[in-house]
Amino acid sequence: MNMSPCPLCKSKDAKLKHSKKIHGKKYDIAECQKCRLTYVNPLPTQKELSDFYTNQFDYTYLFAANTRLKKANNNRAKKIREIKPQKNATLLDVGCGSGQFLDAARKQGFQVTGIEVGKDAAEHARKTYDLTIIESDLTAAKLPTASYDIVCLHHVLEHLSNPASYLSEIRRLLKPKGLLVIQTPNIGGLPSRLFGKNWEWITPPKHLTYFTPKTLARILEENGFTVEKTETVREDAHSLLLQTAFAALHATGLADKVLYNPKRRNESQSKLFSLYLIADQISEFISAPFRPIGRLLDREGLGPEVSSYARPKGR
Ligand SMILES: [Zn+2]
Repeated sequence: MNMSPCPLCKSKDAKLKHSKKIHGKKYDIAECQKCRLTYVNPLPTQKELSDFYTNQFDYTYLFAANTRLKKANNNRAKKIREIKPQKNATLLDVGCGSGQFLDAARKQGFQVTGIEVGKDAAEHARKTYDLTIIESDLTAAKLPTASYDIVCLHHVLEHLSNPASYLSEIRRLLKPKGLLVIQTPNIGGLPSRLFGKNWEWITPPKHLTYFTPKTLARILEENGFTVEKTETVREDAHSLLLQTAFAALHATGLADKVLYNPKRRNESQSKLFSLYLIADQISEFISAPFRPIGRLLDREGLGPEVSSYARPKGR
């Protein structure tokens, strides 16, 4: 088999961690023995990826109905406002999806722009929130140098087979003393340790690279950033209760048949989504008393997501 070099340190010394079958295709997920980055190995080709995304039902816009995510996006925008109090700061959200975070950031006084490859999601963001959305891949967009005070990359890095090239492009787009806010699933967190390959975020070929607070800091440092703060949080992740249910769906193969089946498009998918929204709200309600435990996990770096705040070096 043709092994891919590690997207972080280029080493070819990787050890198989999980094998997972999605859409009838088996993916191997390995851990680099040099830098400990976990990644799909071999990485899919650009053609495989574009074929996959073309056949995929784009349900991103459905998430706009999720009140839990709305709260998470408000929370993200407020945190950035605390770090960047300057009025009218320009903010670019890379992979902005249906625009919910951009809407929250605009309410905090930022001048916002989104960039998104998904046509349906971009259209939803424009229509629903009257936002400026560039419909493109970041590296293809060739945006002007030093044009943003803040660039956000929420749950995007893990989708990329070339995360380093994205980070250097973002570095170019940031103004001197600009801020990069990045969030990605934490493979070092408790849910990933509990559920292994059945963790809801082990989803190749969507998720290709899997970071920990350490590997995220390293890829940022190596691509010209100084990390100011790293923390683990639960923002996009479901409650542990619902994550357990999703892990069972993954373990039994039902997730593959029902959730990620490209043949079950539009209507049936939307119905399923309404059920999911109800389950999500119920599980949040049941989990509410356990939130302090979640905050304790975050303090130990065991939360389901890792966030870093970083600035371009020497600019
Ligand atoms: Zn490596």
